[in-house]
Amino acid sequence: MTKSILLLAHVDESGKGLPKAAYEALGTAVEIARDSGASLIIGLIGGEALEVQNAANAIGSCGAQRMLNVAGSDFGLPRFASDACAAEALCRAADAELVLAPATSRFLRALPALANRLQGRVDTHVTSLRVTDGAIAATRWFYRQRLEGNFQRDERPWILLLDPGCHEPWRGEPAVAQLEAVLVTVPPKCKRTRALGIRAPKADTQTIRPEAALLFVAGAGWTKKQTDGKTHPEEAEKIILDFLRLSGASLGGSKSLVDQSGEQTVLSFMTHLNQVGQTGSTPRHPKGLSTCCHGEEPHVVGWRFINERRAINLDANCGWARGKADVLYVANAFEVMAKVNGLLIELETKDRSR
Ligand SMILES: Cc1cc2nc3c(=O)[nH]c(=O)nc-3n(C[C@H](O)[C@H](O)[C@H](O)COP(=O)(O)OP(=O)(O)OC[C@H]3O[C@@H](n4cnc5c(N)ncnc54)[C@H](O)[C@@H]3O)c2cc1C
Repeated sequence: MTKSILLLAHVDESGKGLPKAAYEALGTAVEIARDSGASLIIGLIGGEALEVQNAANAIGSCGAQRMLNVAGSDFGLPRFASDACAAEALCRAADAELVLAPATSRFLRALPALANRLQGRVDTHVTSLRVTDGAIAATRWFYRQRLEGNFQRDERPWILLLDPGCHEPWRGEPAVAQLEAVLVTVPPKCKRTRALGIRAPKADTQTIRPEAALLFVAGAGWTKKQTDGKTHPEEAEKIILDFLRLSGASLGGSKSLVDQSGEQTVLSFMTHLNQVGQTGSTPRHPKGLSTCCHGEEPHVVGWRFINERRAINLDANCGWARGKADVLYVANAFEVMAKVNGLLIELETKDRSR
């Protein structure tokens, strides 16, 4: 029987609020607390006290019995050692059996150590939680998303890092939250790593966008000889980049295309990080559009979490035609995407003149 659940969250690096994944984890925590009859405690970590208070107010009406926080300049930016100290202090203050947290890169680094310090257990990449006959069970994928496991644990505290995109985010009215401060002194040896600043690629050069409504996949066809017997890499690059800018889509690539990028500069923005499939990633987006990609099984296995799938291929007999896409456009992707970009530019111009 679980008496209390702690939801850990951190203010995002901009200091403006909690990351979206934290709202999704809160959605799960509120549901599990309700179904198990456990009390809900929130533990927030952040830099400025005001930033943490604002983040707490944004979720002030979530029904938590207590709201704890660790705030201070040591906790503004991610750092394994200080994050682990803050999370440990919050867990000891809350004394909860179940600790839920969003699987942000910051928590994925720090929380496994927390389980060790508390003599508990941790599970990462959890996709759902539910209460059955008073017991809490978790699910996660194994063997590269081929098997879904459903499991329980006896060890407590049980720390669960919840993958983003798996639960509806908590939505509620803001309310002034009563925060209890938990004081943490970070030992000097934990401060040896110092962040001097953040260097990030410009938003328009960042092609992997997990929050995007659409996944746009480019395949090796973009680099192949076309009907005129020539390749058109510059045109391909322009069409794809224009589409990404106009649509805000996230860019995926087939293995054949990203492997070429390692050998020669074909599409300068395409790296192995974009690869979707068995030996690549399995992104989550409501919709996907595949272009110049054959749709072979090792690629399409990475589309498991794409709900609505469309593909553009010259070959009416390609893999997508065999039940792997909802709609296959048998057409030249260069022509179709140039036309789509034209329509998006028209829309953009209309919006601007309004
Ligand atoms: C163990 C293993 C693991 C693998 N893991 C992955 C993985 O993680 N991800 C992955 O992607 N692959 C993976 N593969 C490789 C996979 O089997 C395919 O070889 C690869 O996906 C093919 O990439 P592609 O469809 O882009 O290229 P191609 O097979 O070369 O297909 C290009 C397509 O472009 C089309 N085309 C060309 N020009 C146009 C045009 N103008 N308009 C429209 N269509 C056009 C062609 O008709 C063709 O269908 C793996 C293979 C193995 C053996």
